[in-house]
Amino acid sequence: MNFIEKIEEIREISRNSKKNNLKVGFVPTMGALHQGHLSLIEKAKEISDIVIVSIFVNPKQFAAHEDLDKYPRDLEKDAKLAYESGADFIFSPNILDIYPVGYSTSINVNVISESFEGEFRPHFFGGVATVCAKLFTIVEPDLVVFGQKDYQQCLVISKLIKDLHFPIEFIMEPTVRESDGLAKSSRNQYLSKDERQKSGILFIALEEAKKAISLGESDRKIINAIMHKKLREVKEIRIEYASSALADDLSQPEFFLKGDKVVLLIACYLNKVRLIDNMIITI
Ligand code: AMP
Repeated sequence: MNFIEKIEEIREISRNSKKNNLKVGFVPTMGALHQGHLSLIEKAKEISDIVIVSIFVNPKQFAAHEDLDKYPRDLEKDAKLAYESGADFIFSPNILDIYPVGYSTSINVNVISESFEGEFRPHFFGGVATVCAKLFTIVEPDLVVFGQKDYQQCLVISKLIKDLHFPIEFIMEPTVRESDGLAKSSRNQYLSKDERQKSGILFIALEEAKKAISLGESDRKIINAIMHKKLREVKEIRIEYASSALADDLSQPEFFLKGDKVVLLIACYLNKVRLIDNMIITI
């Protein structure tokens, strides 16, 4: 399999492509690729000429107690899947090339990073924004494709692109789900058979809140309570948040108004496995 490890090499590939008027699409990932990632690669292929996929498990977005060491890694398998879905180049840099000894710069996208995921994983968006800014300056893509599965991350990265004047188009693609609605995730493989069965409740909770909204419910606290009540049916679940907010800036009014674009957001532990999901609804 053809991996590019060196920063200079992938940058040259990208620059040469652009010199030849080819549009460069970029899909950053941490590997353990599944259909969710592959849908982003397929989208990138559809709207650009050259697709670069990065596979880099970014230590800066994991806290000490999180699953960095056991995060699933299989570069050969990932590369095969990525190429089959339309990737032209896989960029898999070494940790020490990305974070050399003495590395000391970090990027924080304030405000939008502070609620929801930011509250429970305070290190997380700083790590994501830092690595994405680095990858964007290395790869110099014309466009990037991210998944709605990590909705707040999409807001953080589009703000990063805007605030730092990256000449990059940001594309968000819908969440790819299992047949029972569970959002596909590299971490789903940590679930036991029993947990996997129970994990479908996240999607059901989102659907119930969505239904209440479509029947006219606009009180944010009631919408949130519907999700909490549903999730509590599984005793192994510990909720971090099950909440709703305005989709554009994650602000939390008491009531939503007609025409508002609302995002329902869930993060919870099912025993030891952390799951997140979301759904966007226009009131
Ligand atoms: P990760 O490897 O988990 O950092 O994810 C890399 C990219 O894949 C991010 O833009 C994610 O939002 C996206 N992604 C992960 N799971 C899904 C999914 N089920 N559907 C769509 N995109 C996804």
